[in-house]
Amino acid sequence: MASSASETPGTQRGVGQTIRTVTVHGSAFECGKMYGEQVAPLIHRNLTASTDRLRGIEQLWSTCMAIVNEVYIPGLQKYWPRGYEELSGMAEGADVDLDDLVLLNARDDLNQILPQVAHGDIWWEDIDPDDPRGYGKFLLGQRLIVNHIWQPDGDNCSSRARRGVVLCPVKPERCPDECTTAFFLGPATQNRNVISAQNWDKARRFDDPDFIINLEVQPTDDRPAMLITTEAGMLMGSGMNSAGMAVTWSSMKSQRDFVPVDHEDPQGNKIRCKPRPMLPFPFLRRMLLEGWNMKDVMDGFTEIPRHLSGNMTVADKHGTAFTLEIIPNEIYRVEPITVPFLLHTNHFLNHHSTYRIPGTADRTNMLDSARRLNAAEEELVCPKFLGNVTPDRVVEIFSGHRQGPLSLCKHGREDDLSAVKTVAFVMYNLTKMEAFVCKGPPCSGVITKSDL
Ligand SMILES: [Zn+2]
Repeated sequence: MASSASETPGTQRGVGQTIRTVTVHGSAFECGKMYGEQVAPLIHRNLTASTDRLRGIEQLWSTCMAIVNEVYIPGLQKYWPRGYEELSGMAEGADVDLDDLVLLNARDDLNQILPQVAHGDIWWEDIDPDDPRGYGKFLLGQRLIVNHIWQPDGDNCSSRARRGVVLCPVKPERCPDECTTAFFLGPATQNRNVISAQNWDKARRFDDPDFIINLEVQPTDDRPAMLITTEAGMLMGSGMNSAGMAVTWSSMKSQRDFVPVDHEDPQGNKIRCKPRPMLPFPFLRRMLLEGWNMKDVMDGFTEIPRHLSGNMTVADKHGTAFTLEIIPNEIYRVEPITVPFLLHTNHFLNHHSTYRIPGTADRTNMLDSARRLNAAEEELVCPKFLGNVTPDRVVEIFSGHRQGPLSLCKHGREDDLSAVKTVAFVMYNLTKMEAFVCKGPPCSGVITKSDL
């Protein structure tokens, strides 16, 4: 794979650091071990930064470790043994415990449910409860078709969630909203290229630019090669593979999200939940990226149990692209029908899950999410741009600052740990098999180009 920092779309930039690429090859275990050995000090630092505060709050820590050991590790062994092998290799290479690594990978998922656990409010105490919340205006141009994939939910805790026993609070969640994704199909772009892009946003609490890396995986088994932008110690953020597919994501929260083990809720009630194998979202995304085509990626995917909501956007070089709005019991495939692009932030675009099914209310901070979506959409529906999108233009859209602190490109107040910041930008030209990755906000960072 060839990389360069100067062949960037747009003008020369140079404020931030150039992203580091870690290259691994071999079997899943060998890839993991190589990864662990190459960035061991960074993995140790990331583990400390991600878990230190949590370790100090006994009830939260024990609940998270129960989820890791009784839900996620059995989930890996049952549904994604190759991922289990890769993590085992990384644990050996970096000399860390496997359960700590799984916790690190699932950190953002676990953060989403901590408010449902006793003392979970302590975790978010530095978020201003007077933050403006409310609904943005409605979408301008996106007209969407929704394919509802119903899933039977068996006898697990989520069926109790459906009956209202362990529902999350209806109020918008106090966790920050994170990430904007987009894909542009041929008719949207100047050269009829398929482009997929994402701003990766996260709370400043977990931001250390050193942790953001490119992981290039060259498997010797039957998987495609992958270029993944992630954090040291993690197996997935967003990525592109050598089959011309890209996977990006944004966080989502619904009332269906639940804690998949016995725990105590903030009111002191004992909530019973028999653990069963499930996977957190980063592993689900990585499984999608390991497919050779859309059929591969969707085969069996919908059957893997989850306890959270989230959005994954999948696109391929042939112009097949959709976004999956996932809640624990259901998946909605959302596609554009009147415009050749799709933008996604953090609220549900399909209205089925929000209104049709009782107890599936969106818990997103709609003000921020809807504003970001509308800001990008206003740029795109302008006839001057639609049909004329270029990689430069995509960078420009994702660098937008029009909505102040709620803009697409987020910088977040330095003294506010809960403020959300854009920590990386990725753009994949799937027609040309080119990846552009920027560490830090796209408005000012160094964009590195890689060819797969
Ligand atoms: Zn910016």
